[in-house]
Order: sequence, then structure tokens, then C-alpha cells
Amino acid sequence: MPARSVPEVTIGVLALQGDVREHLLALTSAGASARRVRRAEELEQVDGLVIPGGESTTISKLADEFGLLDPVRKRIGAGMPVYGSCAGMIMLATEVLDGRPDQQGFGGIEMTVRRNAFGRQVDSFEAPVEIVGVPGPSFSAVFIRAPWVERVGDGVEVLGRVTEGPAAGRIVAVRQGNAVATSFHPELTGDRRLHRWFVDLVRQSEDRSEERSEERV
Ligand code: GLN
Repeated sequence: MPARSVPEVTIGVLALQGDVREHLLALTSAGASARRVRRAEELEQVDGLVIPGGESTTISKLADEFGLLDPVRKRIGAGMPVYGSCAGMIMLATEVLDGRPDQQGFGGIEMTVRRNAFGRQVDSFEAPVEIVGVPGPSFSAVFIRAPWVERVGDGVEVLGRVTEGPAAGRIVAVRQGNAVATSFHPELTGDRRLHRWFVDLVRQSEDRSEERSEERV
């Protein structure tokens, strides 16, 4: 049987603020074509979107100024795969604790997150986290003024928790349908497993949308 060709996928990185470049590099080395998204027209050209770590209040403000809040919400609602790390997780939450009162998000994952949750003493740290569905050893997860997840809705799958230290047991990776979020930053380490996994998710969802359009013919 001939090998099935791997579909080419284009994944955008929301390029308003934060570690955009690191995600572009990680996605490229994970086999996707990656590009910056700063305007609604650019959003239309991608098969999936990454929302980087940075500062969620700034990303929120700029997303509003660039007219991206509704277009991103609509695409997520229509099933576009999306992955948010750290500030990106906050942007995907339906509820944010310790946020700024005027901060707005995209939603997509029915969960409550707490901003800067790990406290002052543990502003930045590394801890092992296992991610459901990603084979291999634990991630050396890098947390920088990270949120954690305090509540998840019924449709949300918990993918990972902190396993050691004072924050052991805290939820730091989740998925609801095609929306995925982590409190930590895999883009800052050389470990590309999570980006590869997300690229696969985008490929599978492209396959399914092709099947759906074939069915319609
Ligand atoms: N504390 C930041 C926020 O509230 C997130 C930090 C990060 O993305 N590294 O958005």
C-alpha cells in the first residue's frame, strides 16, 4: 500500500507580544510551516494557532486593538486547533482569577485559571510533568510566573499535573476538543514533543475537514 502523504499544515503564532519567535522555531522544527499572525486576514490563512507565553493583560489589550478578539474566538468556536502556553493558557480560559478587571480572553477551554498562581518564592522553577498522550520521559517543565488551573468543566481532559514540591497535584496541562493549554513553556526548552503532538493534532483535524468536504461532494 502506498504511504499516505503527510498533509502540509500552516500554523500561526499570535504575534502581539511574548515568546513568538521561540514558538515559530519549535513549530518549524516539529514539521509545520509556521507564520506570525497579527491581523484577521493572516488568521484566515492558518490551519491552527499558538498563543505564546508573555503577559496576558498586554496580549488581551493588543488583541482588542488589532481587532482580533472576535475573529480568534470564532475560529476556535469553529474547531480550529489552538495551543496556549502560560499567558496563552490564560487567554484560552473561560474564567481568570487575579486577572485585571478589564482583561479579556478568547475562551475555548471551560476552566478557571489563577494568574501568577505559584507565588513569589516560586516565580520561576522547573518541575517534571508527564503529559497524557505524549510518550517518553516527563517534561522538564519551565514555569515563569505561571497560572495553574483551579477548576475544569465536564468536557475538559486533564493532561498533566505538577508531580513534586509545594505545588504538587496542581493541574498544569489541559485539553478540550482541539484546544490545548499548558502552564509551562515547552518552547523554551529543546524538547519538541509537545509541538510535534500539536502539529499532529492540526494534521488530523485537516484530514477530517477534507473528509467532511469530500462527503459533501
Ligand atoms: N504572568 C503572566 C500573565 O499573567 C504569564 C507569564 C508567562 O506567560 N510566562 O500573563
